[in-house]
Order: sequence, then structure tokens, then C-alpha cells
Amino acid sequence: MAVAHRLFGLFSPFTPAAKNNLSSFLIRSLSSSSSTHGPSLDPEIDLKEAAAELEKSSSPSSSLSRTKGRNFHWVFLGCPGVGKGTYASRLSTLLGVPHIATGDLVREELSSSGLLSSQLKELVNHGKLVPDEFIISLLSKRLEAGKEKGESGYILDGFPRTVTQAEILEGVINVDLVINLKLKEEALLAKCLGRRICSECGANYNVACIDIKGDDGDDRMYMPPLLPPPKCESKLITRADDTAEVVKERLRVYNKMTQPVEEFYRERGKLLEFELPGGIPQSWPKLLRALHLEDDKQSAIA
Ligand code: ADP
Repeated sequence: MAVAHRLFGLFSPFTPAAKNNLSSFLIRSLSSSSSTHGPSLDPEIDLKEAAAELEKSSSPSSSLSRTKGRNFHWVFLGCPGVGKGTYASRLSTLLGVPHIATGDLVREELSSSGLLSSQLKELVNHGKLVPDEFIISLLSKRLEAGKEKGESGYILDGFPRTVTQAEILEGVINVDLVINLKLKEEALLAKCLGRRICSECGANYNVACIDIKGDDGDDRMYMPPLLPPPKCESKLITRADDTAEVVKERLRVYNKMTQPVEEFYRERGKLLEFELPGGIPQSWPKLLRALHLEDDKQSAIA
């Protein structure tokens, strides 16, 4: 991955000022990982240090019995197009913790001009992952800004995406729960191709109408389009990486790089598998039941 190597050279995430806080610890942990997506951390050194850091900054507890505003550390996993952003953002509103999507952080970075951003664009627009170093740095900055504002928990969407990222995160934070969203593969491509974003307010819509007949007694899956209100209609854009060719590559990269992350959390007993039964009206109440959050749903967004 030549571009990734060039980015490696360009990008230096280490700042002395940030040395002792939790988010910069993510960066320091990563510095001992010798290649972008390759060898894992030295568990003897990094994870021990991480545990001490963790003790200072966060207290472990069970995920499902907590109430609004508490410091949830949840992660959403799932293939491109599955709806991580939609459900993470709804839960974020319900639970009063920020929704942090690394894809959004990357796209913000891409919107700036400069050599780094054009090299990143080349990776993202071809469906590749950006280097671990880069994503850790973006996430660290975001966590640091959140900490200054008093944020103590979060719902991560799109991170971790490699086992290296998962090891680093596990070393510094006690992730309470990982929700692995699943959807029939034929729906994933259609959902990515139908995705539209309002260039003004950033809201997500979908023009695809998905109707998959159930076989062997499976239920039919129907997902109606989620159309924009008139104020957004003329401002819709499509993500540059939502073309058929790039979505197929993103799915391939997911299966290769991120599926092992599912196993990582399964082994640790943190993975909640959640098969989406259809669109938001069927899936949202079912997800709340799976999370034992039904009582809170009155305060959820419609
Ligand atoms: P998706 O819809 O495929 O889940 P995202 O919006 O989460 O996409 O991410 C868009 C792109 O940003 C990814 O294809 C990848 O290039 C980059 N990206 C986001 N998160 C990460 C990550 N944790 N590690 C590496 N690259 C990432």
C-alpha cells in the first residue's frame, strides 16, 4: 500500500503536551506497533501500562444496567451500509453520550486541502482503510476535545476496524459492549448505493427500496426508502465511496480486516450479535429490547 507508506512518513502524531492523558495514550500505545496493519502490540509493555492508565481514567462496570448520561463505552461493528451510523446516533440521543464515527472524522479531514488530504482521499475513495496511526490520531483529538467539554463516555462507530486498533482500545478503555449489526448481504450494496446526504445539515437519507423475499420460511425483508424532507431535497449528495465497485471493495476489506475484530470481542464475551429484521420501525424496538432499554424508548427520537 504505497500511499499508506507515504502517509506514514508525513504524519507525526506525537506531541509532548498530550503525553499524559488518556487519548494521547492511544497514540503512544500505537507507536510500539511496528507496522500499519501488521504485527500486534507487545502485550507485556503496552497493555500493562494501559491498564494503569485505564484505572486512573475510567471505571469498569456492566453495560446494560446504567442510566442516561453515564459513561458508556460502546462500539458498533458491522459491514458498510448496515446502519451503524443510524442506530449509533439514535442510541447516542437516548443515552446522552456522544456518537463518534471515525468515518465522519476522516471525511472532515478530507474536506481540508493539502497533500495529506489528497493522499487520504486516494485510499478512502478506493475503499481502503487509512493507516492505524492516522485514525488513532484523529480519534485521540476528538476524545481529547470531548474530555475538555466534560464527556465521559461514547458510542464508537467505525472504530476499531483492525485487530491492532482493537488491542489498543482494549488496552486503554474498558469497552463494555460491542454491538455487531448484521444484514443480508444483498441489502448492504443496495443500501450503500441508495444513500444520500444533505450537504447542508448532514442528515442521511436512502432512496433505495429494499424488498427481499424470504426463502425457506425466512421472513420477507422490506426496507422502504427514507426520503428527505423538502428543505434537504435539492441539497442531496452521494458519498464518493458509495459506488458499486468501491462498496464491493469496502465489503472485501471488511471481511478481511474487520471480521477478525468480531472474533476478538466474541472471545472476550463482549459481542452482542444483532440481526436487523428490516427497516427502522422493526429494528429499533427490537434493538432496544436486546439492550434492555425498552423503558427509555419514550425519550428516543422518532
Ligand atoms: P462504512 O460505511 O464503510 O462503514 P465509514 O464511514 O465508517 O464507512 O468510513 C469511511 C472510510 O473512512 C473507510 O472506508 C476508511 O477508508 C476510513 N476509516 C474510517 N474508520 C476507519 C478506521 N477505524 N480505520 C481505518 N480507516 C477508517
